[in-house]
Formats: sequence, structure tokens, C-alpha cells
Amino acid sequence: MDTDLKLSAGQNESKKWAAMEPETKRWKGSKCDDDSWLAFPVLSDEQSADVELVEAFAAPIVNRKATSRLVRELNGVYPLTGLQHVKRVRACRAEDSPHPLEVLLCLLSDVPNPADASIPSLLPAGSWEGLGEPFVVKVPARPPLTRPQFELASCRWPTTFHEDKQVTVALRGELFGPQQRALMHTFMASAVAAARAAAQLGMEAVGAAVVDPETQRIVTVGHDRRGEHPLQHAVMVCIDLVARSQGGGCYRHDRYAACRFAPTDPQPEGGAVPYICSGYDLYVTREPCVMCAMALVHSRIGRVFYGAAAADGALGTRFKIHTQKDLNHRFQVYRGVLKRQCEDLSSRGRKTPEPPLLG
Ligand SMILES: [Zn+2]
Repeated sequence: MDTDLKLSAGQNESKKWAAMEPETKRWKGSKCDDDSWLAFPVLSDEQSADVELVEAFAAPIVNRKATSRLVRELNGVYPLTGLQHVKRVRACRAEDSPHPLEVLLCLLSDVPNPADASIPSLLPAGSWEGLGEPFVVKVPARPPLTRPQFELASCRWPTTFHEDKQVTVALRGELFGPQQRALMHTFMASAVAAARAAAQLGMEAVGAAVVDPETQRIVTVGHDRRGEHPLQHAVMVCIDLVARSQGGGCYRHDRYAACRFAPTDPQPEGGAVPYICSGYDLYVTREPCVMCAMALVHSRIGRVFYGAAAADGALGTRFKIHTQKDLNHRFQVYRGVLKRQCEDLSSRGRKTPEPPLLG
């Protein structure tokens, strides 16, 4: 009996979806002014931070032939623990310097009296005659995580860099080609249309769409329904619609014409059951709040694209839930898709609630 009810609900949704499909197709054929927006990656605090510097003593190498020996012996005295990313030797910057190489000796914090520094005061008795007078430099305290950090750090002292090329390309705004951006434009346009439907009903003007990036098909479209229940934010509605498409879900959607899902094929028997949003992308007009961001963690969303930032947003503005190391799922977030339209929606005030269009 329960199964019959679910099938019936699914069949109704199928009809609703079929009725809405031409609108989506119109968007696909519409002119895409994708030059007007950029999907900008929302990186972790560590990736976005300024380059932190720490003071160290360095000295010119006056006898170049002694370089290997000096580095080996300095590594024994001052191993520079925690600064493995910093190269011990650099080429001298001053073109007219008689000494082409400089070597890091130690951190200022390694010595008791840094104000009175000389080779004998900094280093234990030994064969240090290959070194010139020490001087203070600032070196990067942490390994660079992005190319901008690497370039800034390298201006101070040479460092190693294990580049995440996808992050570099994303920061240049070149991660998504014209075809992908046209599709992303279409997906966010569906979320914008849903947000407008929400506004018509007197709800917050926030819309969302869940997309299967493998098939490039929209799985669900939903909008804010806080007039129905305070927890029915657009993202929560969309996740429930995905659950509905898989035979679950707990909200009632039949009164909301713009909230819809495409029925999915049943999982093969005996196969691993994925989480609700495994492998899916979310497009949402406004940056999700903490509740919605945590729901996206729990449902294992693949990527999130949002248009407008929100003051209490949990994916970049107030928090960065998607980068929390102590959570058991992390995902990529991009902001700025159809930014202007989404910001226009966000700037709208909440209208007086009206009854839903469908009874
Ligand atoms: Zn929310």
C-alpha cells in the first residue's frame, strides 16, 4: 500500500516535470551572457590567508665551494623544523654582490640574544669561515597552498610548492569553459525561476536546483517555503525532493508547482546505496545558511554553486563549513554564478504571505 502511494506521488511528479521541461529548454536555447559572471572558488581560510612571515638570520656564502658542507653542518645545528618548505640557500638578489649565494642560519627565536648577532654568537665552534656577516631576513612561516601565496612567498625567500593545478586554474577564472558555463547558466537560471516563484507565494526569494553532472540533467528544482514551515529553506526542500526521487522524502510538495523532481532509476539490487546527493551538484541563488550547509554535508553533495553571498552564509561569508577538516565530508564551493540576478533576488524584501497557487 505504501509503495502504491509512493508510485502515485512519483507519477504526479513526472507529469509536473514534463510540464515544466519546456521552460528549461527555453533557457537552454536562450542567449547566455556568461561574460557577466565568474564562478570563483571559495577556498579555505588557510588557502585564502596572507603570507605569514617569520624572521631568520641568513649569511652570504663567501666561499662557494664550501656550500654543500655548510648546508650539511647548518642542518645539523639548526634543522629549521617546521620550515621544510623553505629552501636553505638562495641566489643573492643584489646583482653587484661579490657573493652569489646566501644561506639561512637559524630563526631569531632560536637564539637567546638576537640583537647581538655574529657568526661566533649564532653558531657553535667549528669551521664556519665560508660564511659572511649575518643579517636578518623574513621567510614564509607556512608552505604556500595556492599560486598567489607561492608568488608572494617567493618574493621573500625561495620555497617549495606542491601546486593544486585545479585551484590555480579556478583562481584565474578559467576552470569552466564556454560550454560548461552555458550549462551552469542554465542550471542557475532554473534556480532563479524557482526563486521568483517563491517570491510570488510570499516566501523568501531563494531557489535551488540539484544537477547530475554526469548526465548534465536537472534532478530537482525547489524554492524557499518558510511560509509552510520555518525549516523549509530552498536547499532543504531540494534535498527532500532528491530523497523523493529515490523513493523517500518527508515534505509535501504537491502544492508547489515550481518544486519538482525527475524520477531516477532504481538502484540495482545488492549494489552499494549512495548517500542522497552523492555525485550531485547544487545550484542555489543565495549562499546557504549553517543548517543547509550541514544538510549538504550529511547528504554528501559533490559541489555547490551559489550566486549571491549572504551575511549569515556558511559557505564562505560567515563560516566555511565545506572546508572544515573535522567533518567527514568536504566539497568544492564556487560563488558568483549569475551573480547579478541572484543579488537582485536577495535584495528583495519578503512579501506578505499569500496562499499557494495550487490547492
Ligand atoms: Zn538554509
